[in-house]
Amino acid sequence: MGGTFDPIHNAHLNLAEQAYRQFSLDAVWMLPNGNPPHKSGVRQEDVSHRIRMIQLAIENRPYLKLCNLETSKKEFHYTFETLQHLKNAYPHMIFYFIMGADSLFEFDAWREPEAISRDCVILAAVRDNHHQEQMSGKVAELKARFGADIRLLDTPNMDIASSEIRKRICRGEDISGMMPPRVADYIKKNALYTGGKGRMRRADALSIRDLKNELEKEMDESRFEHTIGVMYICAALAMRYGFDLERAMLAGLMHDCAKCMPNAKKLKTAEKNHLEITELERRNPFMLHAKLGAFIARKKYDIEDQEVLDAIRWHTTGRPGMSLLEKIVYVADYIEPKRDKAPNLSQIRQLAFEDLNLALLRILEETVDYLDQSDDETDDITRQTYEYYKNHV
Ligand code: FE
Ligand code: FE
Repeated sequence: MGGTFDPIHNAHLNLAEQAYRQFSLDAVWMLPNGNPPHKSGVRQEDVSHRIRMIQLAIENRPYLKLCNLETSKKEFHYTFETLQHLKNAYPHMIFYFIMGADSLFEFDAWREPEAISRDCVILAAVRDNHHQEQMSGKVAELKARFGADIRLLDTPNMDIASSEIRKRICRGEDISGMMPPRVADYIKKNALYTGGKGRMRRADALSIRDLKNELEKEMDESRFEHTIGVMYICAALAMRYGFDLERAMLAGLMHDCAKCMPNAKKLKTAEKNHLEITELERRNPFMLHAKLGAFIARKKYDIEDQEVLDAIRWHTTGRPGMSLLEKIVYVADYIEPKRDKAPNLSQIRQLAFEDLNLALLRILEETVDYLDQSDDETDDITRQTYEYYKNHV
């Protein structure tokens, strides 16, 4: 039974036990994977912790064993390699590979599905969320394509996913009852999945690279180019003014994450989630994208670093008493290389690397000037910010 086991929980144990009974197996070997190739970019708890948790979970279940093949030194990276090795080491045994229904639907994408199909019988757990019809269709398809011997395994639908457990731990919620008490104790004792001190995102948060890919899908081309420009200027300013590069890049990357949402949807999403909406924003929903962006960055992309969220929140208007990161994002948004409309850009660009506060003030000044000349409705915060920095720079 392969898996990340990050962490192991009752649904894993239940599945193992059902397989053991329904197919009269001699034993079930739990096979934690090292760094699964198809899940790159996902942060995992260290493999030694995951192994220790499996050991604790199976302590009183003699028919469950730990199999270290994919985590030991000469680790095998792919299931087909592991199975080949087992086949050679135990030529008289029949191996069953236990997988969840979700994995079965991804089976085509695994390395060497033919080899896997040749070396083992596949036991696929049926879960309620996959319709019986879909399931038998997939089974027939895999049989025809790879000659796979696939048997279905009835399991009670225990919807405990490791990711749900990690989220709960991160939020400080109770996880007892989702796994054997010893495992829960171990997690607590070692402060696993808590995100650690100062860590900016949840344990299963996406990397900057993954976030970039996500945003590229959601944004039109010019908005995405702008976003990447802002991200790198944030990095450059962070270098100049001594701020954490990754946090600065994260803030720059995410600052416009709500911008490409249609205006009606902006309003609806803000309403649905009880964000405060001013009358002005109600008439001009595009003004919501900063507020909404901070919300979406947290809710959808699991970003928990409050400073990063604030930098997103205030990137359109600024506010009195901005943090260094808020200033970096605000300035970067204005000077990134693709911008070409604003007056005095080359001067302000240079100033940004000489004196951030002066650059901020210049940008506020230009913005207020622009707002004064335009017929559009404008909010007061930019003006308040300008007044504040006039007296504080
Ligand atoms: Fe913006
Ligand atoms: Fe922007």
